[in-house]
Amino acid sequence: MNERPTGAPGQVKEVTSLANPLIKDIKALALKKFRDQQNAFMAEGLKLVIDALDLGWQIKTLVFAKAGRGNAAVEKAAARTVAAGGTVLEVSEKVLVAITRRDNPQMVVGVFSQKILPLKDIRARDGDVWVALDRVRDPGNLGTVIRTVDAVGARGVILVGETTDPFSVETVRATMGSIFAVPVAKATPEAFLAWRKGFPGLVAGTHLKGAVDYRSVDFSKGPVLLVMGNEQQGLPDSLAESCDRLLRIPQAGRADSLNLAVATGVVLFEIRRGALKLEPEDNKS
Ligand code: SAM
Repeated sequence: MNERPTGAPGQVKEVTSLANPLIKDIKALALKKFRDQQNAFMAEGLKLVIDALDLGWQIKTLVFAKAGRGNAAVEKAAARTVAAGGTVLEVSEKVLVAITRRDNPQMVVGVFSQKILPLKDIRARDGDVWVALDRVRDPGNLGTVIRTVDAVGARGVILVGETTDPFSVETVRATMGSIFAVPVAKATPEAFLAWRKGFPGLVAGTHLKGAVDYRSVDFSKGPVLLVMGNEQQGLPDSLAESCDRLLRIPQAGRADSLNLAVATGVVLFEIRRGALKLEPEDNKS
């Protein structure tokens, strides 16, 4: 392993060997066990890494491809990493392919500390929308929900019960960077039910047997907690009974239900309808 000074106020380590222990640690982040052990996760792409730094996420390691040498944005991200006490690695294409498990990897990968919002720190205010997901299983669904929560300007996501890992590579990819913008909390069903009692606004569940058309509800007063059911089983009775309303999205055709992330998006856009307006600029085509 060579070290060379860069525009960054520190050293960049050049790594070409897959046997390098730093690379082994990063590769291990593919498994939840090691993500939790290292309290870390990986995000791919220069834009994501810059967004994460701007949003105050703690970077542990910045990895970039040789091709990134001399790229001003990469050098700046490297300097910020060193300033934050992180490590910067310049690696061969082979190493990047191994880390990302992709044939055409991004030029930059960042390893960040995980961050979970404690449930007790959520203070819902008027206009706030939180989404609770019951035992979400699919990383693509979770990532898509986090991205949609970000897009509509909702406040965050609460993961209830045993769920897929918000910091898995698949989930982070599906968030398209929104993992850094959307606070994520975790709770057991019991802790969630206890916390929900103090929620100062409407708790709206969605259910295939819901009695209320989601378009008929006035969401404009106070905060809203939207509760979504598990992909296979829907909401269990304990969670459904804790909701003030059970909403249904009317369907035509033969499909039994909507995909979880699609259903979340449909209802979120209705809840946030009043807050989402095109700027005059957007109307120019
Ligand atoms: N077999 C499951 C069931 O019986 O509920 C289907 C679950 S569905 C794939 C996942 C979640 O998306 C549901 O628990 C619910 O929260 C929401 N969902 C999907 N389609 C819906 C609809 N038409 N109306 C209300 N909620 C819906």
